[in-house]
Amino acid sequence: MRLATKVSAFYLAATATLVLVLAAVALIAFRAFSLTAATAHAQTAAEIVRVHLTEAMLLGTIGERQRFLDRLRDVQNLRSARIVRAPLVDRQFGKNRQGEREPDAIEQRVLETGKSYFETVETLTESYFRATIPYVASAYGIPNCLQCHQVAEGSVLGAITVTIDLNVLRQHAILTIAAIVAIIALFAVSLLWLLNRLLRPITVTADEITEVVHGGVEGRFDRRIAARSSDETGRIAREVNRLLDAISQALAQINEPIARVFGWRHQHDNQLQAAVHAVRTMAAIAHFKQTIEEDREISEIYRRLYRLSRDTSAVAEVSLLECRNDEMHAIGDDGMAQTRCCPGCDPAIAASPELCRAYRTEHWVDGLTDPSLCAAQAVTTHHPDWGYLCFPIRFSGQVGAVLQWRLPRAQQREALKGAEQFQRYLTEAAPVLESKRLLAQLKESALRDPMTGLRNRRFLEESIDLLVSQTLRNQRHLAVMMVDIDFFKVVNDTYGHDAGDAVVRFIAKLLQESVRTSDWVIRYGGEEFLVVLVDTAAEAAIAVAEKIRSQLEKSAIPLPQGQTIQKTLSVGVADFPGDGDAFWQVVKYADVALYHAKETGRNRVVRFTPELWHEKEQY
Ligand code: GH3
Ligand code: MG
Ligand code: MG
Repeated sequence: MRLATKVSAFYLAATATLVLVLAAVALIAFRAFSLTAATAHAQTAAEIVRVHLTEAMLLGTIGERQRFLDRLRDVQNLRSARIVRAPLVDRQFGKNRQGEREPDAIEQRVLETGKSYFETVETLTESYFRATIPYVASAYGIPNCLQCHQVAEGSVLGAITVTIDLNVLRQHAILTIAAIVAIIALFAVSLLWLLNRLLRPITVTADEITEVVHGGVEGRFDRRIAARSSDETGRIAREVNRLLDAISQALAQINEPIARVFGWRHQHDNQLQAAVHAVRTMAAIAHFKQTIEEDREISEIYRRLYRLSRDTSAVAEVSLLECRNDEMHAIGDDGMAQTRCCPGCDPAIAASPELCRAYRTEHWVDGLTDPSLCAAQAVTTHHPDWGYLCFPIRFSGQVGAVLQWRLPRAQQREALKGAEQFQRYLTEAAPVLESKRLLAQLKESALRDPMTGLRNRRFLEESIDLLVSQTLRNQRHLAVMMVDIDFFKVVNDTYGHDAGDAVVRFIAKLLQESVRTSDWVIRYGGEEFLVVLVDTAAEAAIAVAEKIRSQLEKSAIPLPQGQTIQKTLSVGVADFPGDGDAFWQVVKYADVALYHAKETGRNRVVRFTPELWHEKEQY
């Protein structure tokens, strides 16, 4: 219930109660006053009648008493007056005097008891007072009653009944009460009007505060409250406005910079939700960035981008293409490179990334609105009602990767909404991807020999522990081959260093091609190579080494100058863990075997035996 209504209701109730109480008090007062006045009137009338009748009896004009009684009616408010005689008097003077009536029940009782009787009779239309007063015989009055009446002192001689009209008094009472009610009502109405005037600023301000608070809950802080007075109500209005200003400014300070950073163009109606959305987005992106910065491998970041894409519910298929050395390489959702390129696109882009529109233009391609936008897309081949969105990820000054979403075009709206947010993640991911890729390249270059493209000794040192533990766990063998070119110095001396380098490269390639991709070919020293054959025992390794040896023996190695030369190599073979429990010890054994091969004529493959070790120690 509204405050004004409550106050008005309370006020009206109080006024009505006051009116009722005052009316009741006035009524009771009037009634008491009427009764007292009427009783006095009746007693006066009775006394006058008694005096007159006594006088008439003494003068002998008692026969005229009815006329007297009738004339009494002319007295104001006296309706009637009549007398009845007591049986004692009848007995002395005889019955049936002229105009006399038999006493009624009340008069009978008064005659018997000698006590006055008073009664107020009120009906809807009239109101009157009846009094029946006895005449009592007394020898001490003037005149002495007992002179004429032969009765005892104190006997009842008769009674007079008068009725007095109370209608006029009643009208006066009604008029007085009506005047009181009218005055109070007038007073009440004026006070009510004044009260409403005083309450109005409070109720209007309260209404406005309610509306403003409702708006605030819905994130709108544009409305202000009018300060209508300089009292507490006005102060409340001004303070609420100050609070609204502060909230609105704080939200703007949160929302506007974030909207600028994220490039959000449309304004939110709900400032609160906008702030919550902005802060949550910021927090999610900051968390994402921190996570990917802590990821060890670039593949982990790729996996996250796949997961993020799939979190956008509209997206049905995702693929990621990595752009390296003017080639496109498909990356699977495990973050690893795939052999087949490229799902959702023309396979020709693998060798010609320029065919990819996102790669070429360096901005995102909306193939949902217009699937024909990119000539190299293959999405619609399998799904005519599908479209695609391609996001280029720029790093190292160019497009380093392209991410493609494929989905039914019916879900375009939802996908485009998700894409806006997803681009933020890509923007954050790009520098991290760039640094991770540079780091990987740096690491790769530190672990690879630039001249031959083979892994170097550092790679072996850093990675061998894992291979060794895997081999031991699986109870397998590693064959270690130590390879050295025979009389290599001669090449340098005869044909120069460039020729020497060409020979090293030729033999490195031969070694690489002669083993499986899972095997390791390491450039161990200047013209020494260490080959680790995975899951291979020494016997099988000897066959491989022999094959290499004979292959080289038959090869004509082209030199930069144009001519060709023939070279041979020697190989020492040892078995891990067959020959020794420690890998590096086995490497040493292979070296001992190589030494033996050199010693025993070169162009040979020698399997390590413990005797060779003892032999070496003797030197
Ligand atoms: P051996 O049969 O005993 O192995 O005779 P060798 O001449 O091969 O002797 P050694 O292994 O000691 O020779 C190594 C020489 O190879 C020393 C060095 O100048 C040369 N060399 C090492 N690495 C390279 C390289 O990358 N390019 C060139 N051109 N020469 C290299
Ligand atoms: Mg050597
Ligand atoms: Mg040599």
